[in-house]
Amino acid sequence: MPPETVPTAPAGAATGLPGAPAASIVIPVFNEEGGLPQLHARIRGVLDALDRPAEVIYIDDGSSDRSLEELLVIQAEDHRVTVVSLARNAGQHAAVLAGFAHARGAVVVTLDADLQNPPEEIPRLLEAIDAGHDVVGTWREDRGDPALRRVISALVTGVASRSVGVTMRDCGSMLRAYRRDIVDQVLRCAERSPFIPVLAASVARRPTEIAIGHAARFVGRSRYSALRFMRLGFDLITGFSMVPIQLVSLAGIGVSLAGMSFGVFLFIRRLVVGPEGEGVFTLFAILFVFLGFLILAVGLVGEYVGRIYLEVRGRPTYLVRTVHRPEETPPCASS
Ligand code: UDP
Ligand code: MG
Repeated sequence: MPPETVPTAPAGAATGLPGAPAASIVIPVFNEEGGLPQLHARIRGVLDALDRPAEVIYIDDGSSDRSLEELLVIQAEDHRVTVVSLARNAGQHAAVLAGFAHARGAVVVTLDADLQNPPEEIPRLLEAIDAGHDVVGTWREDRGDPALRRVISALVTGVASRSVGVTMRDCGSMLRAYRRDIVDQVLRCAERSPFIPVLAASVARRPTEIAIGHAARFVGRSRYSALRFMRLGFDLITGFSMVPIQLVSLAGIGVSLAGMSFGVFLFIRRLVVGPEGEGVFTLFAILFVFLGFLILAVGLVGEYVGRIYLEVRGRPTYLVRTVHRPEETPPCASS
């Protein structure tokens, strides 16, 4: 099969195809070889008991381990599985987007591959969709992540909620369900560095959130390094609003005013007290604070300029190498 390239927001996201399953489970996979058999065993258990037909779409996000091979084995044994193999690592959210583009179900559920989100919660999400909600978010009770990670997540969720004007308890929880129309909207407006839960929240009309269990990682460690996580945070901040850059400008004005007042104060003090030798280092300290502001401001401007650059360059968010659909016999495993 020739490689297939899909643009950022493919127009042909299949909707209501005859024979399309009622639900699609979308799972991004990046170097998860150790846990995939167990993951699929649990997914299969849930799907077998489900009240409606469902498909599973695994997206291999350019894994360098044997994840793709594992997925093809799973696919060979389960006719409900489609494997989308990306040409290179595109990041979790771009991988989910690729999954959206290939999902055919009337409801799409996303899930992490590391079993931190229990697949057994899927029926509860579908119930909430049946009850009339178009996006079902989740928040993680007894979250199995380190404390620092939880604090950063809470901050990120606060920023995200404010920037799209929708209150979310936990935008980092990826066990979520989206109705077809929301999936189509997200595909249409997904841009550079999509952050799916926030993007979906911005177009949702009747969102809801439910509490779910959360486990520590089953095997391996988080695929997010501190740097990757920071990049995601910056994407989120600059991707949804212009407020940060406006705040920086405001801070710049504030800092300049403070600097001027400080100069006036020093001048008057010089007249009253006379020349003083001390305090030079205090001045240095203050200088460094200002310098920090300046660097941050330049960095933020750079973020926006970078986004414009990426947008102008117009490369797709992800590149699909091969799609292994159930009815096809998989071609020799390309990696
Ligand atoms: N993931 C991905 N591409 C990446 C990083 C992560 O597809 O570049 C997948 C990963 O395989 C997992 C999910 O995204 O299924 C969440 O990743 P991880 O568990 O590392 O994130 P955390 O739970 O620490 O937020
Ligand atoms: Mg995880």
